Amino acid sequence: MVSDLKPIILPAHFNYIAAFLSFACQLRCSYCINHHGGDLVKKRWMNGDDWIRGLNRLVACDIPITMQGGEPTVHKHFYEIVKGIKPDLQIDLLTNLEVDADEFMRQIPPQRLKRDAPYASIRVSYHREQQDYDVLLKRVRYLQERGYSIGVWIVDHPEYMDHTRQVRRQALDMDIDLRLKEFLGPLNGRNYGTMRYPDAVNSKELRHCECRTSEFLIDPAGFIFRCHSDLYANRFPIGHILDVQPPRLLGKWVPCAVYGKCNSCDIKIKNNRFQQFGHSSVEIKNISTPYAPNKEYVEEVVNTYGKPDKVLVG
Ligand code: SF4
Ligand code: SF4
Repeated sequence: MVSDLKPIILPAHFNYIAAFLSFACQLRCSYCINHHGGDLVKKRWMNGDDWIRGLNRLVACDIPITMQGGEPTVHKHFYEIVKGIKPDLQIDLLTNLEVDADEFMRQIPPQRLKRDAPYASIRVSYHREQQDYDVLLKRVRYLQERGYSIGVWIVDHPEYMDHTRQVRRQALDMDIDLRLKEFLGPLNGRNYGTMRYPDAVNSKELRHCECRTSEFLIDPAGFIFRCHSDLYANRFPIGHILDVQPPRLLGKWVPCAVYGKCNSCDIKIKNNRFQQFGHSSVEIKNISTPYAPNKEYVEEVVNTYGKPDKVLVG
């Protein structure tokens, strides 16, 4: 069948493609940014056929489509989506790996999630309060021995550094690539994270600015957002993956009125896809003086269970 959807060619400066298949997850980490039980999880999910139609209009480039969430494997058509994406599009997976490893291997051969990159295509996140690291590392090793490109990432929480290093030692002994992610957010009076624009995240005041992003972010309902802040707030989608025309504003300088509510995922200084440090997902210019208080400013991040949790994971 000939598709009426026009191809999407990403701007040359783009660095990342994320398909948030679902904001739901089997785990319940207290610090989760995905508000389990809240509005984000209740958002409509696109079915597998629509995801495949939408993603297959992307013109192949050297950026993989990263399946993520929430937990992408809980999407009821997860395997169909991975199998339905055209072969010239590369796929990465961010997962907690709470899957049946044998079923995973039956459905997806190792070559489908593998490419020439300085980091693993399957990036497993370990969550101390919800997972047994011994079980998780053995599952990672099981897949690794069968040819999968897989590694583990842990947020380096200041209060659990000893535990994190214990897990890292075990991973090293098992020849597993385990990397630490910078902890972000306010904790015990200190603000963690290296931000390119220091007053953009959780500021007491809002400012106007112009912003140009470098990521293609698709939410579970198929809407395309210019940044994580907009995506999580469900604010100002620039299009939908099944709109006939590609989003007109993609990669353009666009005015924004909520500088101060930016998400650390977009503002933090991090590695680009070549693992070169110094990149941030957005560029911002013409920042105004404050024009209003930020009513969402928080001293400490509050999780969905209404308890202060102090942690912001990006
Ligand atoms: S932090 Fe990740 S693993 Fe934990 S509940 Fe949220 S989505 Fe699931
Ligand atoms: S200024 Fe912040 S909230 Fe506005 S578009 Fe850029 S990253 Fe998003």
